[in-house]
Amino acid sequence: MQLYSTSHKSSPVSFKKAVLSGLAGDGGLFMPENLPEMDAGFWKDLHNKNLREIAGDVLSVLLKDEFSTGEIGKIVDDVFTFDAPLVSLDDGLHVLELFHGPTLAFKDFGARTMAAIMACYAGEAGQEISILAATSGDTGAAVARGFAGVQGIRVYVLYPKGKVSKLQEKQFTTLGGNITALEVDGNFDDCQRMVKAAFADRELAGKLNLTTANSINIARLLPQMIYYIHAAAQLGKRHKPIVFSVPSGNFGNLTAGLMAWKTGLPVKRFIAATNQNNVVPNYLAGGSFEAAPSLESISNAMDVGNPSNFARMVELFEGSKGSLQAMIYGAYFSDEETEGAIRDVYQKYRYTFDPHGAVGYAGLKEYRGQESGQTDGIVLATAHPAKFPETVVQITGKEIPVPAQLAELDQKKKHAVPLGNSYEDLRAFLG
Ligand SMILES: *Cc1c(COP(=O)(O)O)cnc(C)c1O
Repeated sequence: MQLYSTSHKSSPVSFKKAVLSGLAGDGGLFMPENLPEMDAGFWKDLHNKNLREIAGDVLSVLLKDEFSTGEIGKIVDDVFTFDAPLVSLDDGLHVLELFHGPTLAFKDFGARTMAAIMACYAGEAGQEISILAATSGDTGAAVARGFAGVQGIRVYVLYPKGKVSKLQEKQFTTLGGNITALEVDGNFDDCQRMVKAAFADRELAGKLNLTTANSINIARLLPQMIYYIHAAAQLGKRHKPIVFSVPSGNFGNLTAGLMAWKTGLPVKRFIAATNQNNVVPNYLAGGSFEAAPSLESISNAMDVGNPSNFARMVELFEGSKGSLQAMIYGAYFSDEETEGAIRDVYQKYRYTFDPHGAVGYAGLKEYRGQESGQTDGIVLATAHPAKFPETVVQITGKEIPVPAQLAELDQKKKHAVPLGNSYEDLRAFLG
């Protein structure tokens, strides 16, 4: 697989180079030069396959020039150790639960795959690789857990002080070993800017063998295509046109859905559902793309003012805004509306969404008010509600049983390095 830069100013690179550098030399994001379609036999037999089988089939096609069959089998074995069940609430209303991994959020899929792939490369290179990741909460958790104990890799997680939930914080500040948490006196955009500056700093990037585990890394996106396809498999052989509603922040998840669609997955429409950080919905509604400072919300993993994967979305439609608008419906919601969605769903179906999934549900509901025709609507539930008890329990009035993944965090002690919010602070720390 050759990958080009969305800025079109540097030449295409190998998959390995793209994974190890994260960002292209010209500042763009890497995109596959071509996304192979899965063959007719794969689609015909889809409803008989489970998640691991689909993962094996898709990764074998995408990464056939990169890894042997044995290596791909090992990646699938390492990563897909938990399921992504489709829960039906109603005729035509389904929830794709992506929160059964070790950090109870969908980012486990991408982070674990990236760790498995990087472990192959670190072994080959015989030198240490450093990973920098900025997080608004869940990325740090998934990446830290995915990479904890992986030989030859050091991870630095930058997170905004006081702006991630206590539980999220515990997930990446208690691991120790090859994982270091950096507590930045600023917001998520500061963290992201600092990480970008470190990559632009050639001397440092070269010295530390720096790469990134944010959703800008292509190794994070590929495995996320798989659960979209698996969702369709779970609908069975006969289903209505499929609409996916994707609660979005940096838009990696939605981009992966679009990529799955490009490989032949039949999808009628994607819904880009956001909180008040509504840069992409505004664009889809006819405005221009205007990055804005991020606003805080109760769906804090989506508090992103300048979504980096937007450049990839544009590429997938060859720059045509019209085609993008035809395929993606945009919607955004206030915290009150998000709370309302949690309440509605609980009252109607006795199902508990976390605030992120609830934004996705609200998006699907709004979309259905606008477009007629029967569909199978699938809401991506990106996090487990037990990660956000402060918000959820006060609305539903029902305690959420704490999954084992969270219960064990209670006794663990936080270790984080306090840092200012300028690149010089980061540079001084990394040396
Ligand atoms: C990261 C995250 C999102 C946003 O995903 P993107 O790929 O950045 O759009 C949504 N929900 C949860 C729970 C997340 O952790």
